[in-house]
Amino acid sequence: MSITSPPQHILIVGAGVFGLSTALSLIQNQTYNATRITIIDASPTLPNPSGSSVDANRIVRADYAHKHYAELALQAQELWRDRGKDAWGGEGRYHEPGFVLTAVADKDAYLAEALSNVRSLAKEDKHGRIDLNKIQELHGQDEIRKATGYEGVSGDHGYANFNSGWADAEACVAYALRRIRAEGGDRVTIRSNTRVQRLLVSGTECKGVHLHGGEKIVADLTILAAGAWSPTLIDLQGRCLATGQTMAFLDVTAEEQAAMRDRPTIINQSSGMFIIPPRNKVLKVARHGYGYRNPIKIPQQTLRPGSDVSSGEVEVSVEVSVPDVGVPIPREAEEGLRNALRENVPHMADRPFVRTRICWYCDTPTGDFLITHHPEYKDLFLATGGSGHGFKFFPVIGEKIVAAIEKRVEPELAEIWRWRSEEELKEVIRNMADGGDEFIACADGSRGGKIGMILSEEIRRSKSDLAKL
Ligand SMILES: Cc1cc2nc3c(=O)[nH]c(=O)nc-3n(C[C@H](O)[C@H](O)[C@H](O)COP(=O)(O)OP(=O)(O)OC[C@H]3O[C@@H](n4cnc5c(N)ncnc54)[C@H](O)[C@@H]3O)c2cc1C
Repeated sequence: MSITSPPQHILIVGAGVFGLSTALSLIQNQTYNATRITIIDASPTLPNPSGSSVDANRIVRADYAHKHYAELALQAQELWRDRGKDAWGGEGRYHEPGFVLTAVADKDAYLAEALSNVRSLAKEDKHGRIDLNKIQELHGQDEIRKATGYEGVSGDHGYANFNSGWADAEACVAYALRRIRAEGGDRVTIRSNTRVQRLLVSGTECKGVHLHGGEKIVADLTILAAGAWSPTLIDLQGRCLATGQTMAFLDVTAEEQAAMRDRPTIINQSSGMFIIPPRNKVLKVARHGYGYRNPIKIPQQTLRPGSDVSSGEVEVSVEVSVPDVGVPIPREAEEGLRNALRENVPHMADRPFVRTRICWYCDTPTGDFLITHHPEYKDLFLATGGSGHGFKFFPVIGEKIVAAIEKRVEPELAEIWRWRSEEELKEVIRNMADGGDEFIACADGSRGGKIGMILSEEIRRSKSDLAKL
């Protein structure tokens, strides 16, 4: 795309972290001064309570086994740490009580790489963004207990990084929307309750979108930032997979909240279970796991608009995993979440869950984002594949997306966020823990728990278990 002739109209599908951060960067970039920007989202309300970007909290950490993400997270953290009222970290949106990663033997490699990365970042960092003294290796349960402040322990070794923190996710999405409205003025339109049915394609050029209800929106550049729903709008040929991740919320007293407020977020990398300090007297316990798949069939004509894909009279369909929102969490998840409470805060283990949720990751096989021009459709840009770790980059990812649109993003980021070849994907999938040849779960090394669960099967199992009681 030539920067000398910027698009007159850019359409962004999806008002989550990827879409909103892109919109903010476009607004701040002089090149797009005369460009109209339309952001649409299927959700009746924004922030979208069912989107991945909206929740009580999200972890912000540079603790990555992959150094490019660790470095980018540090860049984001500089902005999170700005607590001015109108800054990212203002009005209580960001807190920095630390992050403790633990494991039993199976996750040694991931933990060792993450620790070595943050340590070398701390040694090399010339901007004082990360303090080596705030990183401690933890040997055994006593050291873990001392670092977390929790009465119980999960895992038997790990490390603490008191440079890391968490953000109030819903408040951050509301903040970004507010800034886009204020800074974008008349040239920005934000439409909720506006669901894309399929892309509007002429030959191999993407011209915008068809909405449910018949309306068309025409644009010079369409940015697909539909999170876990992205594979329902274009055939990503196994590059993205919606996986359901479970969480539960329980009430805590004001005294309990005060006691836990300054404790670090804790994650057991082996089970995937994590606990973030409570806010508004509600505690969240969740699992960063391989997740559930929810496969459905979608007509190939929807996913590959413009191509002749029909086979005689038979309609060809593609099976993709898509989000299913509003369903209760299966029993196996409830037991896992309760077990995490039992290990860390035993006196809360049997407290009723006031709410549970299945929240959907848009997983890629490697856990790398998919931020690239579509290889076949001109004027279609993909900004998706958050893979369960995209939130922390909210303040900086839009700038990288705009740079990628203009083909000037750093080569190392272009390399990890590219459209991978089929052969490469097959190789990644073959090396997965289960050794199969189908992309059923992300192999970024950070996930815990069981692999290969199907949501409908787990719900059926839960019902039959309940019937036996
Ligand atoms: C349970 C959970 C925990 C997480 N924890 C962390 C964490 O601790 N730290 C971290 O950094 N990251 C975390 N993440 C990941 C992070 O939240 C995501 O990577 C990020 O929010 C993804 O943003 P998005 O914009 O791609 O997706 P979304 O926020 O889901 O936005 C996509 C939007 O597209 C809209 N859309 C979809 N289909 C259509 C359509 N047909 N028409 C119009 N609009 C449509 C949707 O309504 C939605 O609002 C977590 C994610 C989950 C689910």
